Order: sequence, then C-alpha cells, then structure tokens
Amino acid sequence: MSVVENLIKIKQELPQDVTLVAVSKTKPNELILEAYQSGQRIFGENKIQEMSQKYQDLPKDIQWHMIGHVQRNKVKYIANYVSLIHGVDSFRLLKEINKQAKANNRVISCLLQVFIAREDTKFGLDKQELLDILNSQEFKDLKNIQIKGLMGMASFTSDTNQVKKEFEFLKNLYDQVKSQIPTSDTINLDTLSMGMSNDYHLAIECGSNMVRIGSSIFGNRNY
Ligand SMILES: *Cc1c(COP(=O)(O)O)cnc(C)c1O
Repeated sequence: MSVVENLIKIKQELPQDVTLVAVSKTKPNELILEAYQSGQRIFGENKIQEMSQKYQDLPKDIQWHMIGHVQRNKVKYIANYVSLIHGVDSFRLLKEINKQAKANNRVISCLLQVFIAREDTKFGLDKQELLDILNSQEFKDLKNIQIKGLMGMASFTSDTNQVKKEFEFLKNLYDQVKSQIPTSDTINLDTLSMGMSNDYHLAIECGSNMVRIGSSIFGNRNY
C-alpha cells in the first residue's frame, strides 16, 4: 500500500480526539510530501539535524514534533520553529528550552517524558521526579515554555498485559497531575502522547490522545 492509502486507513481508525503524529524519521522528503498533499500536517522526527533540514526544505505550515531524546546543546537549532517537544526528561533540559524559546521570543510547547517501560534503555522521568519538577518554584517561573502533557514509550514486548499496565500507569499519572497541579501559563494539560505502530490501538483504549506512527505509514525504516 502507498503512504496515502496507509494514512487514510489509519485516520479512519482513529477517534476524532486523537491526534496523529506521522513519524517521518529516516524517510525522504518525497514521501513526506505525499502525506502532506493528502492533508497531514504534523510530522515527528527524532534527530535535530534531520528535522532542521526537513524544516528548511518542506512547506512552512508543517508542524514539526521532536519525539526523540534532545541534547541541551542542540535545542538552539530547533527553538525558532519546533511545534512540540515530546521528550523532555530533565529540568535542566526544560530550562534550556525556556532560554532558547525566550531568545526567539516564543513559548515552546513541551511534553514531559515519563519512564514507563521495563527496559532500561528508554529515557524518561520517574513519577517522583516529575512531581518534584512540577511543584518547584523554579518551574513556575519559566515563562517561555508550556507543559501540554506527558509522553511515554511502552516496553517493546508482545506481552499485551505488560504494555497495557504501562499505558494505564501513565494515564493515571496524567489524570493525577491534571487534578493536582493548577493550570497556569506554564502548565496546561491536554495531551497524552502514547502509542506507536505496534501498540496504538491499546494506547488509545488506555486514554492516549496523541499517537506517533511511523512504519505503519511510511513502511519499515532501513538505517
Ligand atoms: C520511531 C518512533 C516512533 C514511531 O515508531 P513506529 O514503530 O515506526 O510507529 C514513535 N515514537 C518514538 C519516540 C519514536 O522514536
């Protein structure tokens, strides 16, 4: 099936309130343009340099989501255009994003990445680290970021029960934060980013409203 056929099929399956991030990492501009021409506007990348090159080359109304791990010294390369950073996993990174957003006279939307998998290879905050950040005065003083929600990646396993538990854990944490932390300019939660090609149906069942889908749209990646 073509990119457009895949997109149409997936969009038909998604509930109205679920946002699709088309993960285009490693994929050429021609394929991204096919998706763009069929109406897709949100694309996800995991490498700063690759995303910035694509930003330069492709239509300017594309919303670029950084879904990968971000090194602090590279935030400056995306701060003028990035639409949402999913992988914020430390307060130091958040402060750097705030600084670079300020330099560009913008407010950058961010998700805090929570570690939910069993593997120790995935980045993210644990629950206590997350709450410590959100409750700190230093956090409340950041004027050029806005936390829109949480992001998580489940274990890479065929054990559906395990994956379900991880998604449910993140949904509960999201609900807890939403009810406990008052909405402000710095935090305004409406996004729970979880679910990829192999687990997005389950993620949506568990309350996700943003899915990041790559290979089911663009085909397998060859690195
Ligand atoms: C690559 C990637 C995805 C998409 O993965 P697929 O299995 O191709 O859908 C989603 N989220 C993150 C963080 C990724 O790095």
